Amino acid sequence: MERHRAKAGGSRTEAADNGRYLKGAKGKKEKSLCPVSGRCGGCQFLDTAYEEQLDKKQKQVESLLKGHGKVYPIEGMEHPFHYRNKVHAVFGYRKGQAISGVYREGTHEIVPVDRCMIEDEKADEIIRTIRGMLKSFKIRTYDEDTGFGFLRHVLIKRGFVTGEIMVVLVTASPVFPSRNHFVKALRQQHPEITTIIQNLNDRATTMVLGDREKVLYGKGYIEDVLCGHTFCISSRSFYQVNPVQTEKLYKRAVEAAGLTGKETVIDAYCGIGTIGITASAGAGRVIGVELNRDAVRDAVKNAKRNKIANIQFYNNDAGAFMTGMAEDGEQADVVFMDPPRSGSTEEFIEAVAAMRPGRVVYVSCNPQTLARDLKVFEKKGYRGAGAWPFDMFPHTREIETVCLLTRSREGKNKS
Ligand code: SAH
Repeated sequence: MERHRAKAGGSRTEAADNGRYLKGAKGKKEKSLCPVSGRCGGCQFLDTAYEEQLDKKQKQVESLLKGHGKVYPIEGMEHPFHYRNKVHAVFGYRKGQAISGVYREGTHEIVPVDRCMIEDEKADEIIRTIRGMLKSFKIRTYDEDTGFGFLRHVLIKRGFVTGEIMVVLVTASPVFPSRNHFVKALRQQHPEITTIIQNLNDRATTMVLGDREKVLYGKGYIEDVLCGHTFCISSRSFYQVNPVQTEKLYKRAVEAAGLTGKETVIDAYCGIGTIGITASAGAGRVIGVELNRDAVRDAVKNAKRNKIANIQFYNNDAGAFMTGMAEDGEQADVVFMDPPRSGSTEEFIEAVAAMRPGRVVYVSCNPQTLARDLKVFEKKGYRGAGAWPFDMFPHTREIETVCLLTRSREGKNKS
């Protein structure tokens, strides 16, 4: 597999800027690539040379997974900027002016953001347009303290391959004055937008999206292409935020599974079914399980859309579902698992062990919980047979890892 390890700074203009800024003038405080660096809390490593970021992450995974098999070199990005296909901005007021940006880490104070080095540039542009339109449409941004105002958040998702763009306007009230004019004006400025959704969030909550939605324009979802399959993505379903790295990650995960065409495969924490669908051609049958109802609906649609007949999806807690399968005496040959940052559970791992798969491919977005869960797997007769870190989130401290586990009693894994 070809490895892309960018030289410090890569080859794009911003990257060249990175080099220039980082050299700085002696004695002076070095200028950051981002004006809100350190206040937004998003890119802890932005002003660290890219090669150095990769080295740090490599060392961290090696130290956390010590004793759990070989850790392969981290896969970096060739162009580690503007990779995020999903952008969220919170709206508010400051000195009578509408502002949009991010919450300062751990607070509800808004740090205004105009341009972000890791977000999609088109999404940032649309957010600036929306902010600029508010005054003429007499739209007030929401005030968390008083509960007054209308616009709370804007969420944008963009299919990097298809070019489709979803704009979600999260509002505190369902009544949207001059809605049609607003939608028309926004589309006039950005004809590339393919769907606009109003999401109602009238609760005092830290969650961005509420439960009720109205499609104001277009089909209400976007499509994107990943590993040769087309996926429908709705506003509330999880979709990996860095599709360039995701393709490499999925390829590695499927390779690690060593499928021969006959296996019964589980895709646990499957989201919209991306891993299971990518693996389906090499498997006998695939069973996906996911807690989020919207994501499961998307997954079912995605299987049909890609004419995949050997896959089924279930809407359930992964631990409860696997326990049920194990109790029914079901077996699996391969289990893919891709839990959230908090990792998996003992219940889930115990049920996996009872189903006796030869291989478990653990896709993790948090090496700390991965290391914790590996210890539980070891007690159940599984051991680490290789870990591949991926830089899915350049400039941040986050690390993604694919980890292969094999059943100890079946001897050494040869791959
Ligand atoms: N494999 C998918 C999604 C990974 S994100 C992909 O690569 O895109 C993790 C997913 O786990 C999310 O979709 C989340 O909704 C789901 N999830 C969280 N807790 C869960 C649980 N207890 N049981 C099943 N799914 C869960």
